[in-house]
Amino acid sequence: MTANLPVPLIVGAGPVGLTLANELARHGVRCRIIDQAPERSQTSKALAIFPRTLEAFSAMGVADRFLAAGERIQGLAMHHGGERLAAIDLDSVASPFPFVLSLPQSETECLLSERLAGAGIEVEREVSLTSIEQTNDFVRATLRHPDGREEIVQTPWLLGCDGAHSTTRHALGMEFAGSQYDESFILADVRIESAPDRRHVHLYLGPEGVFGLIPFGGDRWRIVANIPPESRNQNLPELMLDDVQTVADARGPAGARLSDPTWISRFHISHRIVPQFRKLRVFLLGDAAHIHSPAGGQGMNTGIQDAFNLAWKLALVVRGLSPVQLLGSFHTERVPVARGVLNLTDRITRMATTRNSVAQSVRDFLLPVVSGIDLVGEKVADRLAELGVNYRQSPFVENVGGGRLRAGDRAPDAELRDANGQARRLFEIFRAPRHVLLLFLGAGFDADEKMELLCSAWRDLPPEALESHRILRGEGDAQADLRDLSGLAHSAYGLVEGGIVLVRPDGYLGYRSDEFEAASLRAYLERIFRLGQ
Ligand SMILES: Cc1cc2nc3c(=O)[nH]c(=O)nc-3n(C[C@H](O)[C@H](O)[C@H](O)COP(=O)(O)OP(=O)(O)OC[C@H]3O[C@@H](n4cnc5c(N)ncnc54)[C@H](O)[C@@H]3O)c2cc1C
Repeated sequence: MTANLPVPLIVGAGPVGLTLANELARHGVRCRIIDQAPERSQTSKALAIFPRTLEAFSAMGVADRFLAAGERIQGLAMHHGGERLAAIDLDSVASPFPFVLSLPQSETECLLSERLAGAGIEVEREVSLTSIEQTNDFVRATLRHPDGREEIVQTPWLLGCDGAHSTTRHALGMEFAGSQYDESFILADVRIESAPDRRHVHLYLGPEGVFGLIPFGGDRWRIVANIPPESRNQNLPELMLDDVQTVADARGPAGARLSDPTWISRFHISHRIVPQFRKLRVFLLGDAAHIHSPAGGQGMNTGIQDAFNLAWKLALVVRGLSPVQLLGSFHTERVPVARGVLNLTDRITRMATTRNSVAQSVRDFLLPVVSGIDLVGEKVADRLAELGVNYRQSPFVENVGGGRLRAGDRAPDAELRDANGQARRLFEIFRAPRHVLLLFLGAGFDADEKMELLCSAWRDLPPEALESHRILRGEGDAQADLRDLSGLAHSAYGLVEGGIVLVRPDGYLGYRSDEFEAASLRAYLERIFRLGQ
């Protein structure tokens, strides 16, 4: 018998599936979430949580718990021949979280699961997706339960968050184009005597290869090092702490003594991506859609941003507030981001693991220079922090007028004052699970009629879809909800004389205009929402 499931079905309760389920719940949509594993993964895997992910966690209301559990890391230090070559520090990135938070992935999943349970949704464990069929109207999924029972469910949307070996992807017959790197890697979670400072991830570059040290858990370190390609296809004995110590002695910091290993492993890495993140009513997110080298620690972070991008759109469609076409923007917005991450991590991996001595010399000479400068207009630190991601090319954003900040960019933070003189940060306001319309009035806006016309552009939208704020620069008498006493908010948005900004629930600018044009704003809202129907 087929059970008709009126809610989305999420396959996979890794960090991406859990983020998606939490975000859907925050946006008012319940889902069903299944995972084939009997319990949560206990491995530390992804340690690095970047500023943009922490901003997403902040919007989800879980950032404080992550900050309490994790360890703050200032940046990346690169060493060669016993000397520190360069550092990439995140302390100056424009985010309330100017650091990398180090936390084992098992704990990330634990915090996200607890949050989900708080919303009344439990992961159904030992339930596997085995096959999918879909029509224009629904997806029919076959699930296998631990007692061998088969369940067939009909769901409007299936979200494949089932990792690198995704059943969803296979069922769609989707190619996973890419290749495996020649190099193999070793990994060890250990304690280290005579370790370097814990404020940085340390990368030791040498003729024999790269040796990375990532602090986590208060007193532990993750070691990652490349080993020659020849070791790939051999029946090698199990890797022991002594083997890792030998690599540390040859490449790591002088005198480092390793002890108390909790995880030692060899692994190979690939870089692959699917051609489409969506096929009709089935979506692929996270490792199911793209896998990269762990260099740069971007995999989990990128997947979490996939979920953050899709959840609000899917919720609006499920709640009948937006047209289904909005979902097309998930693919167009996220594919370029994933491709960019693939290219970046590929370059870092090849640069770090090259065995060509000339290439090594060039790398070691150039590193101090490139780590501080712009990388095609974007600082390396911003790139790693995923703060430079933008959706300017999306067909679902609209920019009117000039300025450095454009529709599709991440909305910047700024401090304002409310009617009682209390400080309000824009990032606090953006936590609302709805669109936020900011009317920057400049030093004053005296044309009541024009304001009246402007307000009519969104008056028929329900308050759960959009909230608006009038922001006045300086201390003038004009009516406003918030005051930008320093003028910094107006400047940050490039709207010193005034203009309109519509911030999407994921914190990106959907619409930005330096004119108060009701018709243009209305036309945009009619593309995003089901209005006047
Ligand atoms: C050693 C290592 C270090 C890493 N370091 C970092 C880092 O520092 N930063 C970073 O951002 N990333 C890092 N990554 C990558 C990161 O671990 C992955 O990108 C992340 O786990 C992807 O999350 P996901 O939810 O997409 O998939 P997964 O975590 O793989 O979760 C998929 C889930 O789907 C379930 N599932 C699979 N098939 C089915 C099915 N048929 N039915 C039901 N359930 C199913 C699985 O049981 C699993 O729970 C690292 C990875 C490794 C291996």
